[in-house]
Amino acid sequence: MNSILITGAGPTGLVLALYLARRGVPLRIIDKNSGPGRTSRAMAVHARTLEFYRQLDIADEAVAKGIKVNELHIRGGSKEKGRAELGDMGGGLSPYPFVLSFAQDEHEQFLLEKLKESGIEVEWETELSSFIDEGGYVAAELKKNGKTETVKAAFLCGCDGAHSTVRRGLGLDFHGGTYEHTFYVADAEASGDAASKHDLNMCLGEDGFCIVFPVRSTGLNRFIGILPPALEDRGKPAFEDVAPFIENLLQNSRCELVFDVSRSSSCGR
Ligand SMILES: Cc1cc2nc3c(=O)[nH]c(=O)nc-3n(C[C@H](O)[C@H](O)[C@H](O)COP(=O)(O)OP(=O)(O)OC[C@H]3O[C@@H](n4cnc5c(N)ncnc54)[C@H](O)[C@@H]3O)c2cc1C
Repeated sequence: MNSILITGAGPTGLVLALYLARRGVPLRIIDKNSGPGRTSRAMAVHARTLEFYRQLDIADEAVAKGIKVNELHIRGGSKEKGRAELGDMGGGLSPYPFVLSFAQDEHEQFLLEKLKESGIEVEWETELSSFIDEGGYVAAELKKNGKTETVKAAFLCGCDGAHSTVRRGLGLDFHGGTYEHTFYVADAEASGDAASKHDLNMCLGEDGFCIVFPVRSTGLNRFIGILPPALEDRGKPAFEDVAPFIENLLQNSRCELVFDVSRSSSCGR
């Protein structure tokens, strides 16, 4: 019997697996996807995460792979509305007093490498379909390539995200709601004031806002905002649909910005 069965190889499952593996606890980690996530998702890593990573001796490497954000600029209309130092905002409180920009897909790749070094590989395309609490152990049914396997585990860890099979199987609620608006997330090459390689820019316009984050080791920026109503009904918007809206909003904030559309990597909602 495996001690631990971890369902889900997103950041939560990967870090849990790493902690257990470093302590020599036998485990399996499964994920129904065919491989790690490649889309643009979270990017800000805060001090507490890095303090935990220090316990695993991977903090310095994570910091080296990300970008320390120096300043936040709030822009709108003809001038800068506000500015905050982020580079040392937790000085004296944490060895990591800054906000680190580290894109989730690169971050997951990093955690996978660390896990592999500890002798654990994620079992991809393996889905938890159901489970039964048998008192002394959990009997979990896994599906892979059309075949079903029943696994006995002392613990089943539900790291399977917002639509968790484990949470539903336990009859647990998920409090909270869905935002009325649809957000866009895009990684793109851009030049100009708002496309700083070390600062975070929040640009406010009459039609909404756009947050611009330096995110990639390759020098791309992350653009986050609310999808304009005209694009709401268009299914999955392409980057080319959203780019003119962002350029216009930023120009109104007196931010020069030019996209290199050929280097836009993704746009999601
Ligand atoms: C477009 C987008 C933008 C985002 N931007 C931000 C942001 O800017 N800041 C922020 O903090 N967060 C952001 N998030 C949220 C962030 O990505 C999540 O909070 C984070 O991924 C949660 O990590 P997790 O490991 O708990 O779950 P997930 O990353 O969701 O991982 C769960 C894993 O479980 C697997 N799984 C699910 N069910 C099963 C099953 N039955 N069997 C096997 N495997 C299963 C899934 O395949 C998945 O890989 C964003 C998310 C999206 C989609």
